[in-house]
Amino acid sequence: MTETTAGSPAAHAHASPIPNGIGRGARISHAALFSDYTPAHRVDAIGSASPSSTLTTRGPMKEHDAVTAEIFEGGCRCGAVRYRLTLAALPRSYACHCHQCQRWSGSAFSQNLFVPETALSVTGPLLHYDLTTADRTSHQHLCANCHARVYNTNTRRPGIAVVRAGTLDRSEELTCALHIYTSSKQAWVVLPDGAMAFPEAAPVEAMIAALQV
Ligand SMILES: [Zn+2]
Ligand SMILES: [Zn+2]
Repeated sequence: MTETTAGSPAAHAHASPIPNGIGRGARISHAALFSDYTPAHRVDAIGSASPSSTLTTRGPMKEHDAVTAEIFEGGCRCGAVRYRLTLAALPRSYACHCHQCQRWSGSAFSQNLFVPETALSVTGPLLHYDLTTADRTSHQHLCANCHARVYNTNTRRPGIAVVRAGTLDRSEELTCALHIYTSSKQAWVVLPDGAMAFPEAAPVEAMIAALQV
């Protein structure tokens, strides 16, 4: 692996592709993504969860749980970083309207996908940096060329990759299953009637129910 130093002291680039992921034709169940949560756990999607939250994926699914997987591709703005998601179906997305997501995206809200890290296979030059807040560190993964943020993982959610929904090639097909941190939602953003929405973080049970496919 070739390592180069980027401009920020907190950032460093890895030129080699991430070797994780599983290949075409693999069998998984998206339900495995959430299988190890218990009702006592709290969501930590943005940063206000209990310290007991954990989320891990379990091993290969039993045959009766398996479904035929599909490949969903995406990538960064310049095309240098490409990824594949091997999932049972097109994932559902959620929108976060918190101020941090607004600052980070430069937009009204962030739109993200929760996927098992093992379902994500990435190629291309990635820039990594870590953001530590309180009791967690999020590992951010950007294109080293165009700096588009592609996905992150978080020490509070082992095994889960949070993929930027807009990087998906088929993003126009996505649905938005729930909205969180609507207390800081921009006024012009009007949610559809009946949309699942939470003024702050959502209970993990609601996230699970809304996002699993
Ligand atoms: Zn790029
Ligand atoms: Zn947010």
